[in-house]
Amino acid sequence: MNELIVGIDLGTTNSAIGVVDSGFPILLADEDGKRIMPSAVWIGEDGSVEVGRKALRRRAVDGSRVITSVKRLIGREPSAAENQALFGKSPEEISALILAELKRVAEWRLGQGVSKAVITVPAYFHDGQRQATKRAGEWAGLEVVRIINEPTAAALSYGLERLGERSRVAVYDLGGGTFDLSVLEMQDGVFQVLATHGDTRLGGDDLDLTMATVMARRAGIEWQDLPSDQRVRWLVEAERVKCSLSHRDEETFAIPFYDGLNSFSTELTREQWQEWMQPWIARTIACCHKALNDARLQPQEMNAVVLVGGSTRIPAVRAAVERCFGKVADVSQHPDEAIALGATIQAGMLSGAMKHMTLLDVTPLSLGIETLGGLMNVLIPRNTTIPCKAGEMFTNAVAGQTAMRIRVLQGEREMARDNWELGQVDVPFAPAPKGQARIGVQFRLDENGILEVLARDVSTGKDRVLVIEHSAVDVSDEKVGKMVSESVEYAFTDMSERIWTEAKLKAEELLPAVDAALVMGSHWLEEEERLAIEQSREEVQNALLGHDANILKRAVQALDRATESLAARMVEQAIDQASSGSP
Ligand code: AMP
Repeated sequence: MNELIVGIDLGTTNSAIGVVDSGFPILLADEDGKRIMPSAVWIGEDGSVEVGRKALRRRAVDGSRVITSVKRLIGREPSAAENQALFGKSPEEISALILAELKRVAEWRLGQGVSKAVITVPAYFHDGQRQATKRAGEWAGLEVVRIINEPTAAALSYGLERLGERSRVAVYDLGGGTFDLSVLEMQDGVFQVLATHGDTRLGGDDLDLTMATVMARRAGIEWQDLPSDQRVRWLVEAERVKCSLSHRDEETFAIPFYDGLNSFSTELTREQWQEWMQPWIARTIACCHKALNDARLQPQEMNAVVLVGGSTRIPAVRAAVERCFGKVADVSQHPDEAIALGATIQAGMLSGAMKHMTLLDVTPLSLGIETLGGLMNVLIPRNTTIPCKAGEMFTNAVAGQTAMRIRVLQGEREMARDNWELGQVDVPFAPAPKGQARIGVQFRLDENGILEVLARDVSTGKDRVLVIEHSAVDVSDEKVGKMVSESVEYAFTDMSERIWTEAKLKAEELLPAVDAALVMGSHWLEEEERLAIEQSREEVQNALLGHDANILKRAVQALDRATESLAARMVEQAIDQASSGSP
């Protein structure tokens, strides 16, 4: 059974938690059936705590003790005023309360304990903010197995990894309190953030405040004169009207008995509302241009544009983004669920619950076979797009050999023994002198990552086929990371070992040839030349006893030189014999 890892979107305004169930990412709903939980915490005077919707409900009666948007403070030292607003708790502690509530909902839904999570953070979060988020998770009783960028999660939820290597995606995220635009590029199977720009003080809340302020003024009230609990009523109504105007042309804004006596009510049209929003929308578009500029890309170079965050439901926002990028935006996912869903997909990939999901259709590690001397011979290098095929011709190392063992390997190390063996097959062939047999080996990797190895004895045309049952691209990120980092760590020793092995193979091939030549050419050899060859030969033999590739290579070169003229004479003789034998 796969271990359970949940995916969490810890948002400024709202949060959500999900898990992969039977191969599908799903978000977990609370007791009220809600999959989205407000990132709000109420702390009572006696220290009691309520989180989420329950906390928000306290807003009207005990608004000053309801903490929202704590994400803005995480990972930095809060000011004295901020500290007071958190009732002495740190932003991490408040975030931990939100995470603990999400964990509780998940455990209640799943009927089992939850201890591991993937949590998303904005792309612009620096290391301190990421560490603080991780700590908050740990305080909530969760081991944070990975922190991922929100735009990356959004791209995952839209399945954009299918666009392939080098594809570029713009993620426009306009939530309740923050805005950011990230430009991603798929590199080596993962989305890299090329640039990100945003405004941590720009979101749906500002729109609510704009509407509430204008409406209050229409009622003859100045916003700053309103006590905070009164303000909440105007803000809540503004948000309702704002959301309604995203799908209706007209809506009534009403605050009954706003001062205990008088009621206020007025009609608002979408057209009018859009005009008020224009400056805010224009600010987000300016950020888009800045991010594109940083990434040195033109808007039309994006392969996809996705919208996330509740405020992207506003039709005027969508229209502005589409105008900016000259492209229809992908809105097929719930804008406020996309990030949590992406976090869940990432969690599923890490736990193995989403087996058939590969980030990109490329080989995560090189595929090859073991050749003479225990070396790795790569046929399909790492990061090759699949499907693909590659082949090479091999020969027998020993005279009279009747079979060749093909060991199929995966990994980045130079020596076969340090890579993983995926399988092996013996290919029989007719006995032949050394180097005469011809065995063609072909690797075919299909779109599901299934590797088929075909080995053919060229002289008979007989094939042997080996199919590696489990997908060769379905390797956990962790294992790939370990293999790649080991190949870097051992690059030097691995390479020296390869150079040594290759030099040794060459020497071992040369020595018997020299011995044969010494016998065959004995009658032409001057004593001096014979001595020189024998001395060089001995040096090669001595070098083989050591382990220094350079000494061995030099000795082999010296032996090559010493036998040059003997070899030339033998070739001449062979030509003479051939021509005298011919008619
Ligand atoms: P998020 O932070 O992504 O959860 O987004 C929350 C913000 O989206 C809040 O400001 C909501 O008022 C806003 N929002 C949600 N639905 C709509 C809608 N239909 N029209 C306009 N704004 C919306």
